[in-house]
Parts: sequence; C-alpha cells; structure tokens
Amino acid sequence: MSDNIKTKVVKFGGSSLADADQIKKAAAIIRADDRRRFVVPSAPGKRFSDDVKVTDMLYRCCELAGSGVDFTEDFQLIRDRYNGIIEGLGIGLSLDEEFETIVRELKARPSKDYAASRGEYLNGKVISAYLGFEFIDAADVIIFDTKGTLLLDDTIEAVRKRLRGVERAVIPGFYGRTTEGFVKTFSRGGSDVTGSIIANAARAELYENWTDVSGFLVADPRIVREPDVINTITYRELRELAYMGASVLHEDAIFPVRSAGIPINIRNTNRPEDAGTMIVSDDYSFTGESLEHTITGIAGRKGFSTINIEKAMMNSETGFGMKVLKVLVDNGVSFEHMPSGIDTMSITVDTASLEPVRDKVLAGIRREVSPDHIEIEDGIALLAVVGRRMKNTRGTVARIFAALAHARINVKMIDQGSSELNVIVGVSEHDLAEAIRRIYDMFINSEKQPV
Ligand code: ASP
Repeated sequence: MSDNIKTKVVKFGGSSLADADQIKKAAAIIRADDRRRFVVPSAPGKRFSDDVKVTDMLYRCCELAGSGVDFTEDFQLIRDRYNGIIEGLGIGLSLDEEFETIVRELKARPSKDYAASRGEYLNGKVISAYLGFEFIDAADVIIFDTKGTLLLDDTIEAVRKRLRGVERAVIPGFYGRTTEGFVKTFSRGGSDVTGSIIANAARAELYENWTDVSGFLVADPRIVREPDVINTITYRELRELAYMGASVLHEDAIFPVRSAGIPINIRNTNRPEDAGTMIVSDDYSFTGESLEHTITGIAGRKGFSTINIEKAMMNSETGFGMKVLKVLVDNGVSFEHMPSGIDTMSITVDTASLEPVRDKVLAGIRREVSPDHIEIEDGIALLAVVGRRMKNTRGTVARIFAALAHARINVKMIDQGSSELNVIVGVSEHDLAEAIRRIYDMFINSEKQPV
C-alpha cells in the first residue's frame, strides 16, 4: 500500500449485501470512486422483515451441531443463500469446498465464533470475486488475546504489513483470530469495528459506513414521524446520544478512527445520492457551517429509579454523599446522576442493577446516614438533549422546559453536564415519548425556515 494514494475504507452492512441486487448496488458505489479501495463486508442480512440473517442461521447450525443433532437441512439454507447470490451476480464461483470445510469443522468442534464468522468470510469471497479485488482473510490480520480482547496495536501493524503493495482488497468484517489461532468474533454488529480498524491502518481519509438509513436521525423515528437526518455530529455528541439508546453504529467502532482523526460518513446504499451523516472529531472547525439547529439530537431511555433521601442539615454533614455512594459501590450499583438540594439528595440508578440489592441498599443507607426520609421511585426515563451549539446559545434550557411545561410533563430531575453539550431530564416513563416529541417540535420544527 502506498500511503500517498487517497483511500476510503467502505464497510457495507448486512442489509446492503442481502442479495445479488444489493451487492450490485454496493459494487456500483465502490466503482464510482477510485478511492474506495478497501471493502469490509458484513454477512448477508435480512431481505425482508421476517427474513433470517445468515449470521443467525450459522449460530443455529452451530447449536444443533453442539447438541449432536443433524444440521444438514439448516445448512442447506445457507448454501442456497450464497448460491442464489452467486447466480444472481453471474460469476463462475463455487463455494462447495468452503461449505464442506465448514460442515466438517462444525461437526468436529462446534465453536460459536467460528460458525458466525463464516457469514462474513463467505460473503467476502463472493464480493472479492465479483469486484475483482484481492481477498484478505481477517483471521490473518485482526488479532485478539486469549481472553478475547482486541490487540489494537498488533492488529494495526499486521493490517499495514498485509496491505503493503495491495491496490484493492476485500477484508471480511466481524472476526479475527486469537493469539492461539482460534477464530474470534466481535460482539454483534462488529463489522463496524473491523471497518474502523482497517481505516486506521490504511490511513484513510474517510471511513464510509454504508447501511440502510440515510444517517443518524435527530430523534427515534418510532417516536417522531420522519425526523430530520443529522448532517454533522461530533464523536462526543454521538457518545452522549448512543448512551441514551440511539444506535446505528457499534460502540467500539469509534475509537480506532477517532484516535486517528478519521471522520466516519454514514451512508445509505439504497440512496447513494444522500449525503448521510458525517461524524467528525471533537475539535472539528465548524466555521462556515450552516447553522442547522441549536440541538443535534434527542434520545431517551427507560428503566431508571431514583433513590430520594432527605435529612435536615444534610449539607453541613461532611462525607454524607460519600457514605451514601459507598453503599451503592458495596452493592455493585453504579449511579447515573446525583442532583442535590440543601437537605435532599436524589440518585438516579439503573433499575435492573438496583433490583437484586434493593433492600440491602435501603438498609445500608439508613445505617450509614440515618436519613429522615428515604424512598425509591421506579419508572423513571432519562432523556438527553445533545448539541455542541447549546453552549453558545442562550435560553436552550428554558426552551426545553417550556416545551415540557406546555405538555404538562412533570420534570423529575435535571442535569446539565459541565461540557454544556447536553441537558439530561428525568421524566416518568409514561411521558418519555411525548417529551421527545415536544422538544423536537420546539427545536427542529419551529427553527425551520417557513417555505
Ligand atoms: N453479521 C454480524 C451480525 O449480524 C456482524 C455484522 O453484521 O456487523 O451481527
């Protein structure tokens, strides 16, 4: 690989490669830009909503193999999927030998990771044949330690070495191998991570992640009808939204490109004319940016509880907060937010992690700080209003609360991070969807220029 060639790494998700027609669309996209030199494919995904992803079919075969049950019929469905694709693409490729090897391996030692990885492996073979690009087995370059943790530096080095002198290649996503030589996958959706690693190693100018949506949306489309697409988002904003449940990209896909200052462009294989969403570094210069909206996105998550504690003169009692938090630590509960008043303190925690130790936590806090009153309120949702522009715009918080007040939504908690990048609001779970809709209206709909 010569470093001075401009390079884009392109990763295509499962629905973008679900059948021959989709693969043809992906190939047209790749061929439309010479810089799209390294391609990272997922396994064929769903063609329609009730369809089964090849990865899930492979997990199933492995499960059957593990219990000594014949999996010929299930495996036949996988053969049919690939053979259908090969036929649709009109290439003279036979995967029969590969199929035999996989069946043999699964019978001999049914490893879940090995089984799942074959979806990407086989799709990589098909796509490299169709494009006429070199095939590079991810097991040769993506390296995990024996516990299954990615060895990023070793991996980057191995990829760089392998790509030297390679003009164009297909490197399957989702898997690699351990230092002991066993195939190992990332967690589900992990082809995103492979793409990010390859982009770093190839010193790419851009990591394009092609999927079936035209980018990140300002709000969840199940809540807000046809929400706007976010044009540009920083890595930090993305993390805030992802933490609150917005998801398009695998969490671990951010680090390898973020550290190398490579932007990610989320694009839609079915609408290549759409610009998608650009994910850029936190210090990206936005001068000249058309001021879209004050906020970048809104996301919310249910399943929180607040522990409300009252005690007269709490504020003058040194170490009060520490003692309370120590009870949580001792019970393995981490807290999300902790707004406090003079004589009150309220701690928001994840209900699922509190559940098994609820009584112990209550008893522990009573013992440690003898509160006048303590109660746990369940059914809390947190919503995050995220935006890098909030910092320089006055009145944002007032507008959030005006939107909620008009809808008669009771605000249970507020927290503005010191970065002024987000405002977190706690509401009752029943109010979450309406709260998101009202905030969306306040900031997105009302900021739109009348047409
Ligand atoms: N095929 C894998 C999955 O279904 C990995 C991926 O698509 O990124 O999770």
